[in-house]
Amino acid sequence: MQTIRLGISSLAGSRLAYGCWRSAGSWNPAEVTPESQAAGRRGIIAAYEAGYTLFDNADIYCRGVCEQILGRVLREVSGLRERVLIATKCGIRFAGDPLPDSPQRYDFSGEYIVSACEQSLKRLGLETIDLYMLHRPDYLADPHEIAGAFAQLQDAGKVRCFGVSNFRPTLVTALQAACPMPLIVNQVEISLAKLDCFTDGTLDQCLTAQITPLAWSPLGGGLLGDGAKRLLPSQEGFQTAGIVKALDEIAKARGVSRTVVALAWLLKHPSRIIPILGSTDPRRIRDATRAAELDLTREEWYRLLLAARGAPLP
Ligand code: NAP
Repeated sequence: MQTIRLGISSLAGSRLAYGCWRSAGSWNPAEVTPESQAAGRRGIIAAYEAGYTLFDNADIYCRGVCEQILGRVLREVSGLRERVLIATKCGIRFAGDPLPDSPQRYDFSGEYIVSACEQSLKRLGLETIDLYMLHRPDYLADPHEIAGAFAQLQDAGKVRCFGVSNFRPTLVTALQAACPMPLIVNQVEISLAKLDCFTDGTLDQCLTAQITPLAWSPLGGGLLGDGAKRLLPSQEGFQTAGIVKALDEIAKARGVSRTVVALAWLLKHPSRIIPILGSTDPRRIRDATRAAELDLTREEWYRLLLAARGAPLP
């Protein structure tokens, strides 16, 4: 697969990234089985063999189990660590952490960022994380405190580069103003089922500041593929029948799957969006790579946008 640089950093990753959120087969550690972990492991290895070199994870994915699964693969598959970039995130805390009555919250305090990173390094079995992201904006985010934690982690060799996730453009600007190091990615939900980033300033800022957008749920959690197994509450109302019909028409004409067309639609944007594929199915993981070779015409692109809007442009 082609590779592209992340932001203005020296890190280069594959045109499509691989997401490990579903690698444990459940979001609840109590439901994880040896079989479900083995399936997650197979997905990660299939992605590596198909040419994905950017792997996305987070401390909260199945409460650390997904980082452990990736860590085991990194240790077991010879040469893999040297060829891939490992990205993970922190900042979301579950209810009950650390005290039984602690509420669900976001935490970008310097102390928490540093300790969460150290826990992720342990689970991944790594000395250094290539890309460390703040998962969801903390209402109490203090840019200078975050910058201090980032500098501490970078100086200690624990993180190479930093990014954010689900940040609105104004908060990216505020954080960047306090950080000596560049923020190289903003990981946000972008797909034909979720168009907000095209009009809320997120992608405009990515273009201006050379921040690479990473698109989570690029297939709407499966709705733009062969169907969803488990959706986030915010995705349950997605209306995708019209999009799927338009995808199928182009897919038929181009001799590819609808998934490939849906991913190629993201790849066409000049901000150089990197879709993060979330499938654990080796066949689907391989099929998706064909998107990197499919250059949609402007007419095809707009036909899909119109189907997604469900209304004409002004
Ligand atoms: P997705 O690629 O939109 O959806 C993946 C789901 O679609 C899987 O359950 C997959 O099932 C299913 N699917 C159905 N048909 C498919 C097809 N033809 N091809 C591929 N998949 C198909 O992405 P996602 O899993 O929702 O999210 C991707 C990644 O984004 C995550 O792994 C995570 O790294 C990241 N993420 C980040 C945030 C954030 O807040 N930063 C939030 C959510 C996710 P099978 O496994 O059976 O193929």
